[in-house]
Amino acid sequence: MDTVELLNESFRTIGMNYGYDSVTAEYCEFKEFKIKWRRSCGWAEFDVSDYMMDAPPEVMRGMADTIFSKIARKVRKNYPKEMLDWLTADEFIEKKQPLYMSRARNLTRTAVGEHVDLNEAYRRLVDMGLTNFDKNLRITWTRQPNTHRVGYCSVLMKVVIISSVFDSPSIPTLLSDYVLYHELIHLSKGFDPFGQRHGIDFHSLERMYPKREEAEEWLKRLHLRL
Ligand SMILES: [Zn+2]
Repeated sequence: MDTVELLNESFRTIGMNYGYDSVTAEYCEFKEFKIKWRRSCGWAEFDVSDYMMDAPPEVMRGMADTIFSKIARKVRKNYPKEMLDWLTADEFIEKKQPLYMSRARNLTRTAVGEHVDLNEAYRRLVDMGLTNFDKNLRITWTRQPNTHRVGYCSVLMKVVIISSVFDSPSIPTLLSDYVLYHELIHLSKGFDPFGQRHGIDFHSLERMYPKREEAEEWLKRLHLRL
C-alpha cells in the first residue's frame, strides 16, 4: 500500500467509528505541521501535513483518531504516545528539519549574526543550568528584523528563530539570551499542538531567568513583544 492509500485507509477506517462513511485525505506541503478539514453530515475531507508521509500505520490511525475525536468535541487530548514517539525520534528530525528550514523564507539559516552569536547565548543558558544541551536544536536569525514577533520556535522541528532586531551592538546580549530562553521553554514542554502556550508553569520557568525583569524592561522600552 502506498503512503497516500495508507493515509486514506486510516482516516476512512477511523472515520467509520465516528459515523463518517465518506472520508478522503491528501498530503499538503504546509510549512508548519498542520491538519485541515472540511466536513458535513457523514462526509469529511482532510489536508494532512506531508511531514507525516512516511509514518507507520499505527501512527496514522492514532493521528486520525485524535482528529476525529477533536471534531466530535470529546475531551481535549494530545496525539497518542506512538505518534509523539515517532515525531520526536532523531530520525524524524534528521529528515524533516532540513525540509522545514527550506520552506521558511525569512531566515539567515545561521546562529552567527553580524554582532551576536546565538550559539554563545545557547552555551550561556546551558552553563547556567537553565536548559539541557540538545544536539538536534537549530538556532537561526531572521533575515529581516521582525518586530511583531521577536522569537519563534517550531517545537516539532526543534528550530528556534530569533529576530535580527537584537543583532545590534546597541542592544545588550541579555535580550537575545532571554528571548532564546523563552523559546527553549516551549521546546522543553514538548509537542502539544492543542495545549496552552503560556500557562502558569510556563511563567514560573520563565522567572528562573536571573535578569528577567531587566530583560522585560528592555523589551518594553523598545516596544517589542515576545
Ligand atoms: Zn512564547
